[in-house]
Amino acid sequence: MPPFTWLNRAARVAFGRRFPFVLCYHGVGTLDVEDPASLFISRGLFAHHLDVIAEEGYELLNVGDLWRVLNGGSPAHNLAAITFDDALVKTAREAIPETLARGMACTVFVPSGLMGRPHPDLPEEQILSSGELVELAAEGVEIGAHSVDHVWLEGMPYDAVLDQMRRSRATLEDLLGRAVTSMAYPYGAHDEQTMKAAREAGFEVACGCSGPGPWDALALPRSPIYPSATTLRLRLKMAGLYGPVHSLVADSGPIGRWRSHPPHLPHPQERPVRPRQRTTA
Ligand SMILES: [Zn+2]
Repeated sequence: MPPFTWLNRAARVAFGRRFPFVLCYHGVGTLDVEDPASLFISRGLFAHHLDVIAEEGYELLNVGDLWRVLNGGSPAHNLAAITFDDALVKTAREAIPETLARGMACTVFVPSGLMGRPHPDLPEEQILSSGELVELAAEGVEIGAHSVDHVWLEGMPYDAVLDQMRRSRATLEDLLGRAVTSMAYPYGAHDEQTMKAAREAGFEVACGCSGPGPWDALALPRSPIYPSATTLRLRLKMAGLYGPVHSLVADSGPIGRWRSHPPHLPHPQERPVRPRQRTTA
């Protein structure tokens, strides 16, 4: 985001302006094993996020409905969406009840070839079965596609990408008996080819996972959520300001550099070096 754009946005947020946003969650609950990709957050932290979102006056829609409002040009500044990639069993048990109990909507993206099987990156965690997904859809949760095999689509031959998208959509539509128009790229990986394939496969919305950006239907911006998502980080992601602020405070950013070497302290390399005492033979 160019500096003027985000400074302008920051000023408007400071004066109470709201912007629509989409958050990307994966697992919710506790894990008994290492979580190297930081896919899981605790149920308590997730419930806190929902409370913060509600306190800020946002209404949560599923991502398909949010896109239709945005695309239709209606006011959407108090609208947002939360999504769950990979359709994990634990997420359905821990996160969905918290969401629905608050009258909030959400979207779950499922790799259609892995229903009822272990997660490819966390083999101890199960993906929802077809029957469990039908139950979830009956509760009002939007079910979206997430490829067939949870593969990295970016860079794959076009026909293979299109096949993953078409088959995942067809499987879910047969299962649910309704149109499936939303999808998320596994790992958020997308390029011009994947976006073209998503359109050709008939998806209305295809989600990335790389922070705020222009509202493009086939690269819908979502902010990824990790266990480190404190209230401040969540609020920055909701405002679309996390990236710019993070780049300021990172070690290489101006504030990060200032913190490492405050101006009242000389840089280590600039400190006067005491001359070595001469030793005489
Ligand atoms: Zn995924």
